[in-house]
Amino acid sequence: MYSIVYNLIMKTDSKVFDPFSAYNIALRKIEESGIVPTKQRRILAKILFQKGNRHISAENLFDEVKKEDRKISMATIYNTLKQFTNLGLIREVVVDKNKSLYDTNSKPHYHLYIEDEGKIHDIPTNNINLDLPSIPACLTLHNIDVIVRVRSLKDNKKS
Ligand SMILES: [Zn+2]
Repeated sequence: MYSIVYNLIMKTDSKVFDPFSAYNIALRKIEESGIVPTKQRRILAKILFQKGNRHISAENLFDEVKKEDRKISMATIYNTLKQFTNLGLIREVVVDKNKSLYDTNSKPHYHLYIEDEGKIHDIPTNNINLDLPSIPACLTLHNIDVIVRVRSLKDNKKS
């Protein structure tokens, strides 16, 4: 079925329709899950996924929505981010108790978080060796989150 869709890639209004873009894949998953792809959800999916893999806070997403001259409330943004997280489209990375970043890279990876700069970088899973305890037979491994927290040394150099 996908190969048929792929053959139908065509130019409309000088924009190329790519059924395999992160946005279109997300839209398909939203539809398949039974969630109505409302205009607001489509706008948020587009803004979230059009810039490739990235980590964005709800507040920064709100700013990007405003920059595109769209009006979506902060409450709707939080709700939609929660829905997208539950669908596995994005991943919530809780960097501290007051700050979550939403990760558009849903493939397994770990994070390096520079606390004083608020910057986060991806770490490939094979760069970190974990020695996990064996998991009881009645349980199944669902996910592993690793955040390596670092701070820059610049404050120490001043003194
Ligand atoms: Zn990430």
